[in-house]
Amino acid sequence: MIDPGILDLGYLLSAGLFIFGLKMLGHPRTAPRGNQYGMMGMATAIITTVVKLEIETGLLGWKYILGGVLLGSLIGYVLAVRVEMTGMPELVALFNGFGGAASALVALSEALERIGIGAVDPANGIPADPLTLWVIWIAIGLSALVGWMTLTGSILAMLKLRGGISIFGKWIRTPTWGPPWLNPIKVACGLSVFTLIYLSAVNPENTDYVWYIVGLSSLLGIMLVLPIGGADMPVVVSLLNSLSGIAAAFTGFIIGNSVLIIAGSLVGASGLVLTFIMCKAMNRRLVDVLFKTFGGGGEKESLTRTKVGSDAYEVAMLADGAQSVIIVPGYGMAVSQSQHQVKEFGDLMEELFDTEVKYAIHPVAGRMPGHMNVLLAEANVPYDKLIEMDEINPEFPDCDLCLIIGANDTINPAARSGEGPLAGMPIMDCDKARVVVIIKRGLSVGYAGVDNDLFYEDKTMMLFGDGKEMMTKLNAAIKEL
Ligand code: NDP
Repeated sequence: MIDPGILDLGYLLSAGLFIFGLKMLGHPRTAPRGNQYGMMGMATAIITTVVKLEIETGLLGWKYILGGVLLGSLIGYVLAVRVEMTGMPELVALFNGFGGAASALVALSEALERIGIGAVDPANGIPADPLTLWVIWIAIGLSALVGWMTLTGSILAMLKLRGGISIFGKWIRTPTWGPPWLNPIKVACGLSVFTLIYLSAVNPENTDYVWYIVGLSSLLGIMLVLPIGGADMPVVVSLLNSLSGIAAAFTGFIIGNSVLIIAGSLVGASGLVLTFIMCKAMNRRLVDVLFKTFGGGGEKESLTRTKVGSDAYEVAMLADGAQSVIIVPGYGMAVSQSQHQVKEFGDLMEELFDTEVKYAIHPVAGRMPGHMNVLLAEANVPYDKLIEMDEINPEFPDCDLCLIIGANDTINPAARSGEGPLAGMPIMDCDKARVVVIIKRGLSVGYAGVDNDLFYEDKTMMLFGDGKEMMTKLNAAIKEL
């Protein structure tokens, strides 16, 4: 008979794999291996849990776990295979929600199992220590609060990233709505949930508290995400990611699973670090993102100005004389999947004209953290050519040609004005380059819905069209020179 204590070594191993995996995710070069370490950590944790269950309880729990693993893997596989690259951010938001839901459901089942059996431990039927029971009820309440809040908040975040939902063929835009009076309601709702958690702990016989906690926590998730619009979504998505980890850590505490506590804490802590990185990138305080609605909640501006477009040959001739080029990718590069053509442009510039080429990466470009890094890595752009915003900004005044592909909010000088949804957000100083070329399909606004003065400047040439199509034309024109 194996000593169950020895099996904790399996949990130790999986925790170690999670930590190393997380460390490797810190750099694009090592990130794929980091993912593999994470997967191995998860597999080790599952196998250890199954063996532990079998030895400790003899409940043959492995059949249910294996069924869950197979069903989850199938759903995950189908979603991952079918998702378009542009749909990845929505999928990530949904997965955050699933993480929260899993924790919330475990908390709910633990709560329902405990109600009615009083101060008895459901695992072995032995009367439990009152303090331990009290602490477990608090953990169940907190797991439910964070889990349900993460689920509803993430579903709303996913719908915001999609822009809306189609119901019976009718497209309904996801609203952004947050009048100032909603803030006291959010605070009252949060305090009510904490009170209910306390009441459920001192009076564990009462089922009603559990359902009130579920309802109010779900409402809280919606109220927290509903007002957030404009360019502040990255902060919310990373915060929800962190919350899904915190919910899992509480759940680990409830069911006494150390690896769940460790993995949940890692996700919670790293998600929180990412949240603060995003806040720094947006020049926002977290409390402002959660309780302020910036500039009218991302309503789209209507445009009346016009600008004459340029053509690929004109831009190619300009590129011929450039000694330094900075390429600025944005969400439109992801939509048009033009990263390979962008890389080809960079290579052509270096090989034909001996031009110095750099890629400027804004921390919130695209629709998920690291979006541009992932796409450019896929196209084999060397990592040392990807330069972060703070480092590249001083180089724009000496740059002969700034080529922007499908970026808008991240290059919008309106952010410097101190007003509107982009107020205060640091941007790429593209407007300081000698000549600016912008590839996008029209003059439409970006995610935050703010018109962009850079399009209309004399030094700016607009190449109107799909990113991939225009980059292909531009590369062909350069080759013909
Ligand atoms: P934006 O979303 O501001 O603008 C993208 C531009 O791409 C649009 O104006 C669009 O113009 C153009 N575009 C769309 N499709 C194509 C295409 N096929 N070919 C060429 N151009 C195209 O992009 P940025 O990357 O500058 O900014 C990202 C925004 O998203 C920020 O506001 C950020 O806060 C927000 N956000 C970021 C997240 C993250 O984690 N990174 C998460 C959630 C939101 P047109 O229609 O005229 O072609």
